[in-house]
Amino acid sequence: MADIKTIDDENFAGKKVLVRVDFNAPVDADGNVTDDTRIRAALPTINKLVGDGARVILTSHRGRPAGEGFEESFSLGPIARRLQELLGRDIVLSRELIGPAAQEVVDALEDGDVLLLENIRFDKREKKNDPEFARALADLADAYVNDAFGTAHRAHASTAGVADFLPSYAGYLMEREVATLTGMLDEPRRPFVAILGGSKVSDKIKVIDALLEKADTLIIGGGMCFTFLAAQGKSVGTSLMEADWVERAGAMMKKAADRGVALLLPVDVVCADAFANDANLATVSVDEIPDDMMGLDIGPETAELYAEAIGMAKSVFWNGPMGVFEMPSFEAGTRAVAEAVAANEEADTIIGGGDSVAAVNQFDLADKMTFISTGGGASMELVQGEALPGVEALR
Ligand code: ADP
Ligand code: MG
Repeated sequence: MADIKTIDDENFAGKKVLVRVDFNAPVDADGNVTDDTRIRAALPTINKLVGDGARVILTSHRGRPAGEGFEESFSLGPIARRLQELLGRDIVLSRELIGPAAQEVVDALEDGDVLLLENIRFDKREKKNDPEFARALADLADAYVNDAFGTAHRAHASTAGVADFLPSYAGYLMEREVATLTGMLDEPRRPFVAILGGSKVSDKIKVIDALLEKADTLIIGGGMCFTFLAAQGKSVGTSLMEADWVERAGAMMKKAADRGVALLLPVDVVCADAFANDANLATVSVDEIPDDMMGLDIGPETAELYAEAIGMAKSVFWNGPMGVFEMPSFEAGTRAVAEAVAANEEADTIIGGGDSVAAVNQFDLADKMTFISTGGGASMELVQGEALPGVEALR
């Protein structure tokens, strides 16, 4: 981040500052925000700018509107109401995104005021990173701040293009996410234990590859473990298994062995005769998975082995649940791992990935972790060693 300006480098008094935030929060049928984590995550940056006496113009997307103009179901109205409560000040919501009408709303702002533009994806030029659209957005402001780490892996007009036209800065959330994740990857305190789970090997192949270069121990759980078990010649019944990826999984086990990385796979699994919470269950050794059953969680012996490895770590990176934690019958493995990570107070513990973060929240352990990334896709791309367009644009 050394070559990127941050908002601490400037006093924004009297300046119109366009701030890209990630307000893509879930909203229920009654228009209530059901999880305001992302809105809260942007508050430090907003408060700093308000404190400076800036005129703050917030912009965000929410969901996937058609891009043909306003759609009530994707409106940022519910977000504006929640933000108003959190900030304790009035928020102006502008239907217009760019042009003279938007300019008029901006011109009416006083120092310290906060304006929220409607869903930026109501204009399809946003996702196309259309330079004219980016220019029109930039015309509203004197400076640009990107605090939307969650969309930093997208090159859109409000996340990247606009930076061509304005002095640009990283917000606090962006700064902290990038510094924490790259810090762990570049200089982990060792032993560095990486835990990977979730559904598919194919989704996570680059993450696994990248972590094999960095970690001392790689723990594998979730649906993806069955492709690895298949590569060891085990029969996995009707478990989620990607036949096309078995060879690749075998190659990764070899790479781990060559590099001296301890790759841990389950020794027992919780099997079910259907993908359902009330299915018939059997906890079996990985050598005895019945032909007509699927593994939906790691077993208790595995959980104990994993917890032991996690307990010895000085750094932990975790992405992907160990089982189908959304169903109580298959949450025990993910819970055990979450508890082991939470219990290791000596280690830097970083959680990334939408479902993994949801699991940690479900078990009420979020405040026991060192850092919880707000960006699912963006944090994975960073871990994979890919440059994020939203970060690059700030350079
Ligand atoms: P994240 O969002 O943290 O990156 P993923 O999206 O990769 O995680 O994976 C999460 C999903 O994986 C969860 O919905 C979970 O139910 C599913 N999953 C975990 N273990 C299994 C399994 N054994 N079989 C099928 N699905 C699984
Ligand atoms: Mg997910």
